[in-house]
Amino acid sequence: MKIDLHNHSYYSDGVLSPVELIRLAKEQRCDVFALTDHDTTDGLTEAKVEANKLGIKFIPGVEVSAMWSNMTIHILGLNIDIENEALQAGLKQHQEFRAIRALKMARGLGGAGVVGAMEKTQAVAKQGMITRTHFAQMLIQEGVCKDMKSVFKRFLTGKKPGGVGGQWAQFDEVIEWIHVAGGKAVLAHPLRYRMTNTKVKRMMSDLAASGCDGVEVVTGSSNTDEIALISQWAIELDLLASSGSDYHGWPNQRVRIGRLQDMPNSNKAVWNYW
Ligand code: AMP
Ligand code: MN
Ligand code: MN
Ligand code: MN
Repeated sequence: MKIDLHNHSYYSDGVLSPVELIRLAKEQRCDVFALTDHDTTDGLTEAKVEANKLGIKFIPGVEVSAMWSNMTIHILGLNIDIENEALQAGLKQHQEFRAIRALKMARGLGGAGVVGAMEKTQAVAKQGMITRTHFAQMLIQEGVCKDMKSVFKRFLTGKKPGGVGGQWAQFDEVIEWIHVAGGKAVLAHPLRYRMTNTKVKRMMSDLAASGCDGVEVVTGSSNTDEIALISQWAIELDLLASSGSDYHGWPNQRVRIGRLQDMPNSNKAVWNYW
């Protein structure tokens, strides 16, 4: 079985439409697929209709931004009820923060000499939600930076011109939104935050204590050592294990839908509950 529980469409910072994503997932022989856009469920209905047509098992999901220890982390809500009001109210808060943050980022970039940052970024973000990825694309298009890596480093993080601190809900609140919507809460890409491994383990342990259900043991960019490490910690903390590519459809991204390393047999997989 090919399972991929972490993917983005153009409703957040992916390139493809939900329908295009499902068709690509079918081409890649994916059996179970979750769409998990950042802080929105807008693409889920379109994706589900196409998945039903093509015979793919579709898991409605969302990747929710959250605060842990003053840092932004990402918690996936998998198999959620998209009609749930508490979840939608929480996501709406985040969407409103994104709109305010975009204005602040544009102002910061203006101060660094980037003219018309807001308008130019809006033109890149076709569906309304503005993510940092859209600012990054704009700065690359304008020739200010050459690639994603340098643009985040020089402009979009910390005290850099377009850096604005996250004001997302706390992790325990986000876990609660996901749970009231009937979903499983899963910490996304645990080794992609800027923290030491000791801190990663502390974060996983805090999340587990707040009822988080699982962690992404296998991601599109994991190597064998990383999988072994998170697999071990998941077992120690009694967390379920998930697997997802974090596919965004960027032309130069090496990640492919459903092309993931195997989940270690010793882990309890989150999909066993569906
Ligand atoms: P946001 O949720 O708007 O703050 O944007 C975060 C998104 O930006 C992540 O989901 C990634 O897709 C992307 N991102 C963050 N850091 C980097 C980076 N260093 N290089 C490329 N993409 C990044
Ligand atoms: Mn993203
Ligand atoms: Mn993420
Ligand atoms: Mn993601």
